[in-house]
Order: sequence, then C-alpha cells, then structure tokens
Amino acid sequence: MRTLLSESMSRPAVDTLLWHMGNKYGLALGRRTKKMAKTRGEAVELLANAAQRSGWGKITISDGFETTGKMVVVFENCVFCEGLISEKTSACSFLSGILAGIAESLYDKGVSIQEELCRAAGGGVCRFNIQTV
Ligand SMILES: [Zn+2]
Repeated sequence: MRTLLSESMSRPAVDTLLWHMGNKYGLALGRRTKKMAKTRGEAVELLANAAQRSGWGKITISDGFETTGKMVVVFENCVFCEGLISEKTSACSFLSGILAGIAESLYDKGVSIQEELCRAAGGGVCRFNIQTV
C-alpha cells in the first residue's frame, strides 16, 4: 500500500494518512478489548496474542504504562514493512497509529509514539516507544 500511495503522494502525506487510518482502527480495537478484559494488562496480552496469531510478527511488550507512563513494543519480522528495504526513515506508520490508538483507548490518556527502530530502515526489528503526553 505504501508503495502504491507513494506514486501519487509525498512521503509525509503517505505516513500521515496511514498513521490516522491505523489510529482509528487501534482506538476501536482498544475500546472493544477493554470491555472483554478484566484488567488493562489482560487486554494488552489479548491484543498481542491476537496480533501474533494474525501474522503481524513476534511481539514483545515492556508494559510499565500504569507506573511509569511508558511502554516499549518490539515486533520481530514485522509484517507491515515486509519487503521494504533501504528506507531512510521508519516505515511502519500504519502500525504506529494502531499502537497509539490502542494505548489511548486502553489507558484513557493521550500518548506520543515513536518507531525508534524499523526493520525496513536497517533496525533489525521494529521498536516503538509509547508514552503519555
Ligand atoms: Zn517498522
């Protein structure tokens, strides 16, 4: 999708569009999962397991959100940037939007997110830092 959109839009426009699409999806996923789970931690676990089963990649989460306001999410073999190589910057804006939306809806807080490593840009894994704003 990124490649197709890039034929008619600038890179920042593609990233913004994909991020917001992902964010709406993540907000809905988070709200729905929050109703099913007993705790926020259980909701995070349910979502991570569902994402892994769906082939999004192997996911590791360091969830200190309730105590430190920070969470680190790592995707090995991330499906969202599969096939992309030699990107100059992180390429998983759709996934970044999803994760921000999930965190916002689960914790009822505004968050900022940064993909500090991306496999497409030579990072080995895709690693996201999420924190309250
Ligand atoms: Zn990535």
